[in-house]
Amino acid sequence: MNTKLDPWGTVNIDDYSKLFDEFGILPFDQVCSELPDPHRYMRRKIIFGHRSYDRITDAIKNNEPFSVMSGFMPSGKVHLGHKLVMDEIIWHQKMGGDAFVGIADREAYSVRGMSWEKCHQIGVEEYIISLIALGFEPDGHIYFQSSSDNVKNMAFELGTKANFSELSAIYGFSGETNISHMISALSQSADILQPQLEEFGGPKPTIIPVGADQDPHMRLTRGLAHKMNMFRVEGREDKNGNKYISIRGKAAPDGALSDVAQQINDRPQKHNARRIPEAKLYEGHVDVFGSDDLNQLLDIVRDVALKYNGYAFVPPAATYHRFMSGLQGGKMSSSIPDSIIALTEEPKAAAKKIKRAKTGGRITLQEQKNLGGEPDKCSVYELLMFHLIEDDSELEEIHKECVNGSRMCGTCKNAAAELMSDFLKDHQELRELARDRLDDYKL
Ligand code: SF4
Repeated sequence: MNTKLDPWGTVNIDDYSKLFDEFGILPFDQVCSELPDPHRYMRRKIIFGHRSYDRITDAIKNNEPFSVMSGFMPSGKVHLGHKLVMDEIIWHQKMGGDAFVGIADREAYSVRGMSWEKCHQIGVEEYIISLIALGFEPDGHIYFQSSSDNVKNMAFELGTKANFSELSAIYGFSGETNISHMISALSQSADILQPQLEEFGGPKPTIIPVGADQDPHMRLTRGLAHKMNMFRVEGREDKNGNKYISIRGKAAPDGALSDVAQQINDRPQKHNARRIPEAKLYEGHVDVFGSDDLNQLLDIVRDVALKYNGYAFVPPAATYHRFMSGLQGGKMSSSIPDSIIALTEEPKAAAKKIKRAKTGGRITLQEQKNLGGEPDKCSVYELLMFHLIEDDSELEEIHKECVNGSRMCGTCKNAAAELMSDFLKDHQELRELARDRLDDYKL
């Protein structure tokens, strides 16, 4: 009953509950209320889960540095599914995030066997131009993986911390998988960590908008970030039940751990802050008793790691969004042209697809009047909710009319088709302007 009354269609979120239970992804509701002006994807639970997003809300509220990063494999048409991610990147850029977009040409080359020229052409013509047309600002970073020394070098370094079994468990690699494909998987982790390199201002929270199926990749990258860091900071308890913080740095260069201990013990005097009691240096670790300011300790540890040319990555945060269904039901897939709407598609053709789309309507008009429609099973309603209607109360009204049987699918599809056609016309005009502005972007 509640599900029916929820205009944001919680029914699909239940399908993802496994992610909450098994993998520790947290419901996005908890952090959404912290945001000054949440995006409609957030308000409507299209973004339903997160990891560490509280770091991003803190950064937004306190005007502190953070980054947003995502990537696109240049293998086909840019469509509404990509728009969802692009909108999320652009929204975070507007909120003050330093934005990064990687075109995963190494992946397209190694997995799809596409030539570099084709990867470049699709990357610019499809993805980058639409990204700019949707509002990506030139102070962000757009790059091709194959042209980024940072990504290539970092992928190689990450390779020392990941083994074949781990990657095959996540990506299904077998003995037949080509080596470049494996490297391209690590390149994605390198993409995610790149915003925290010194060149871009050093360690900071980074948000990665991903689909619900991408969590294994996020877990891999968070694990790699942890393994790459010079120090590991852990809360512990001694045999008398006293809590303390242990800073471990097995592979840290000589002097780094004693530097950590010294800086912790010196810091109160230097900054006139509350004294942090006793950091004690042992073989391979420093233990800190009595500190209740973990962030202050983390700052010190980070500064020392950077001073000794090590890494101090903040584990990347993630938001998880629902997928749109295909227009014919089932999954949206570029290999089924009728299931998607490309951003470069002829507006009239897109409108026709919507008129043929699978709805949550009943078999007869009379049944629809009696029973009402099922917007939570309707691909047309999804289009309205994800992309075509900004005003929540307007969408809520449509949901209500559908459920109570006063809205008929024919009229509804026509209205959605018109909105989509208008959106595509506008977007395609903006794409032409974006093409002229390509030089403003550091590609
Ligand atoms: Fe979908 Fe609209 Fe039909 Fe309801 S009336 S099932 S929202 S097409």
